[in-house]
Amino acid sequence: MKIAVKTPIAELDGDEMTRVIWSMIKDKLILPHLDVKLEYYDLGVKERDRTDDAVTLAAAEAIGRLGVGVKCATITPDADRVGEYSLKKAWPSPNGTLRGILDGTVFRKPILVKNIKPAVRSWVKPIVIGRHAYGDLYKAVDFAVPGAGLAELVYTPKGGGEASRVKIHEFSGPGVVQGMHNTDASIESFAKACFAYALSEKTDLWFAAKDTISKTYHARFKDIFTEAAAARGDALREAGIAYRYMLIDDAVAQVMKHPGGMLWACTNYDGDVFSDMIASGFGSLGMMSSVLVSPDGAFEYEAAHGTVRRHYYEHLKGNPTSTNSVASIFAWSGALRKRGELDATPEVTRFADELEAAVIGIIERGIVTKDLVALVEPRPAGYESTEGFIDEVAASLGRRLAGA
Ligand code: NAP
Ligand code: MG
Repeated sequence: MKIAVKTPIAELDGDEMTRVIWSMIKDKLILPHLDVKLEYYDLGVKERDRTDDAVTLAAAEAIGRLGVGVKCATITPDADRVGEYSLKKAWPSPNGTLRGILDGTVFRKPILVKNIKPAVRSWVKPIVIGRHAYGDLYKAVDFAVPGAGLAELVYTPKGGGEASRVKIHEFSGPGVVQGMHNTDASIESFAKACFAYALSEKTDLWFAAKDTISKTYHARFKDIFTEAAAARGDALREAGIAYRYMLIDDAVAQVMKHPGGMLWACTNYDGDVFSDMIASGFGSLGMMSSVLVSPDGAFEYEAAHGTVRRHYYEHLKGNPTSTNSVASIFAWSGALRKRGELDATPEVTRFADELEAAVIGIIERGIVTKDLVALVEPRPAGYESTEGFIDEVAASLGRRLAGA
């Protein structure tokens, strides 16, 4: 008897090696056990091209409407890809489009197994990074100052009124100058998504900035987070989780001695830097999952890695591949667990737990793909093919569901 999933899930298919993995996961791990309606959107680059990217907009609408989506990695076309796939143009990044429409924040979470030791000894629980993906350095304007002169910031109110100006620096020789911005609306959405994630995952929330130095700019971030925490006081207490504000240097020092198990909300630049530090410290890209959370509580799950192009070209030549499917499998389990929670169907949530336990269990028995061989202790004697690994998960999942 298959487990019934009450509400449909938006399924976003993708490109290259991850698309190959995607159909294996569906056929071997999901559809044999679940009676689930998948609202299918093909975000493969050819279909985006054929529909002039309308399929991406339709997928975003579906995630907002259904509340849960699961997405395969997709190509963000550059000039090379336009040639390779004969595209009409270099369509924008689907992830950027989805993030923009859903006004979402991306959270990256490492998948932990006992036989891969993080580079930092104290890390025993995942450290999740939430990166504010708007503004600051990434929307900054700057220029080279040629020589002596005055640089100022000027704000002119819309519709008239007096401009305000502040001196940046009185240059006595050449230098550089930069102007950057953020908006209350974007910071508020970011804070909202971070609290939504923390409450959904029952995890503590850290936010860090440098308000002692940046007494207006960073202080605005701090104030918005403080207000968001105050507005959710009861919910946080009920969930038994804490919100902490720290100076960024203090947060960095503490994270190196911390057991983990928190969401670390980062400003745009900090998130760029620290998400790569955390990913590398925990092991492999193939073990990093990712979820986009909108401020009004829609969730889209995916792997953090790309379409693994190099492996796909081997696959096309007919050569065996050993691509890690763990983050893609966890995209499915994440979406199903959230669906189960929202629908109040514990049997669906339990299926998600069993699927993840099956994956972790076989890795802990030393059954791995090639990327993990050098990381797992003791070192495995060999490795599985892409499909071989998924078959092992399928067999273990089958035994678990049968209660054996
Ligand atoms: P990638 O897919 O992240 O892979 C880069 C390299 O990392 C691979 O060649 C492989 O190393 C290793 N790797 C990544 N994931 C792995 C996995 N699951 N199992 C084993 N090894 C893994 O980046 P890419 O190949 O340079 O990019 C391909 C396309 O992905 C690009 O068109 C880009 O636009 C897109 N992309 C999409 C997303 C997304 O949709 N979320 C994110 C990033 C990139 P080895 O070659 O050493 O084995
Ligand atoms: Mg980075």
